[in-house]
Amino acid sequence: PAALLWFREDLRLADNPALDAALRSGAAVTALYVLDDETEGQRALGGASRWWLARSLRSLAKDCAAIGLPFAIRRGKAGIAVPHAARETGVGAVFWNRRYGAAEARADVAIRAELEGEGIAVEDFNGRLLHEPWDVKSRAGEPLRVFSPFWRAAMTRGEPRAPLPRPTSSRVSAGPALDGVDVESLALDPTKPDWAGGLRNAWEPGEAGARKALGAFLDSGLKGYAETRDRPDMSATSRMSPYLRFGEVSPHQLWHAVEAAAADGSARAGDVEKFRAELGWREFSYHLLQNFPDLASRNVQQRFDDFPWSAPTQGDVRAWRKGLTGYPIVDAGMRQLWTTGWLHNRVRMIVASFLIKDLLIDWREGEAWFWDTLVDADPANNAASWQWVAGTGADAAPYFRVFNPSLQGARHDPDGAYVRAFVPELTRVPAKWIHAPWAAPPGVLEAAGVSLGRDYPKRIVDHDAARSRALAAFGSLKTRT
Ligand code: FAD
Repeated sequence: PAALLWFREDLRLADNPALDAALRSGAAVTALYVLDDETEGQRALGGASRWWLARSLRSLAKDCAAIGLPFAIRRGKAGIAVPHAARETGVGAVFWNRRYGAAEARADVAIRAELEGEGIAVEDFNGRLLHEPWDVKSRAGEPLRVFSPFWRAAMTRGEPRAPLPRPTSSRVSAGPALDGVDVESLALDPTKPDWAGGLRNAWEPGEAGARKALGAFLDSGLKGYAETRDRPDMSATSRMSPYLRFGEVSPHQLWHAVEAAAADGSARAGDVEKFRAELGWREFSYHLLQNFPDLASRNVQQRFDDFPWSAPTQGDVRAWRKGLTGYPIVDAGMRQLWTTGWLHNRVRMIVASFLIKDLLIDWREGEAWFWDTLVDADPANNAASWQWVAGTGADAAPYFRVFNPSLQGARHDPDGAYVRAFVPELTRVPAKWIHAPWAAPPGVLEAAGVSLGRDYPKRIVDHDAARSRALAAFGSLKTRT
């Protein structure tokens, strides 16, 4: 018998339950990836994600070839392409790892029905999450809306399974070849302008890249993670997010890798626990997505549907996107995002708060920009995090929590090294004023060669005034509903 392995958001060979099961079934296996921009309701990947995907697919193709697994890439509606490929190869079964978006899950139900109707079995697995989102419940059997009880409930489900081994060629019996297209023809890369230079410098997408980045983190980042993970000026977090997004690494691999690092004494239990809790936030986002399928487009708390957002002015949105707001930590963040496709978590919170609270712009505007520019743009994490900052989500920060960008900058980037890395105009501004250059005494900026309004923008809003405006807007909402 032959089997088809359909790769989706699991672009790896190691710890891939669907691949492992297909090989264990004894079938001759053919692998397939389908670039699907057509299925209704499925959100098309953003620009940075497409850039990542191109490299990831090339890397996967190479890895499949190395173990003798035939692999084809096709383009089109999965509901047509997958059954078609199954018929063409004459397989008796299709294997895949589950997806969690509502539209994706719907498509999978339909594809399964079609295949089973033709006598082709479907076997699906969890390759993406430590726990299925529907398995974690309150004692009363309800979904959970708050992280801490969610994570406590998840932990009672026991230790996540150990990662499955990476298959070697001796385990592979090659299935029928399938025609496919080459990655180039998918036109996933930007052309004019080519904005991906910074991404190329920053990342090595693919499973091998994930292994290297994880190794570097285990060697030097995990130790002290609990204290330093909030420091954007340090290389203190794993940068595993794009690899998790595309499934080049699994959370199970990370869960167990940090344990091993702690066992040999290179990290402390507190670091391991904290890191695992961050994986827990990712699980929680998927739990929310499961229970609020419109997480990226609708306020979880419906009372916010009446919120008096400002009509976003082109100028404000543009200044935010380009990192020209006059708030150095915000600008450094938005420039890091644009040049590298990634942004430190603390700074994500600061820039999101700035857009939503200081500019009073609807969180969906920011969510969409992140979706397009992040290499880790994730349907669950991005939407859940934006709603969390906005105060509209299930487990939201209270609306009156408004980040003060200069205080946040001074706390988390105390020497200004992070700002200097992305806002070169301010390189010579002393640390004391780098997060609030407008407040510097006369002479300080001149000595640093900076004239506000000429070399670096004046603030587009006054934070204190903006904060009062935001609180008034949120206050009006409370009395109206
Ligand atoms: P590490 O600190 O090394 O953490 C390890 C992993 O845990 C991460 O890769 C990630 O999968 C998970 N994780 C860590 N922090 C969080 C968190 N706060 N919420 C959920 N999962 C977390 N994360 C995405 O993966 N994709 C997104 O599109 C995304 N959008 C965000 C938007 C906003 C406004 C905010 C505030 C956060 C967003 N995050 C998103 C969450 C978080 O910022 C990133 O996961 C994290 O910065 C990735 O860096 P890292 O891999 O070095 O994290």
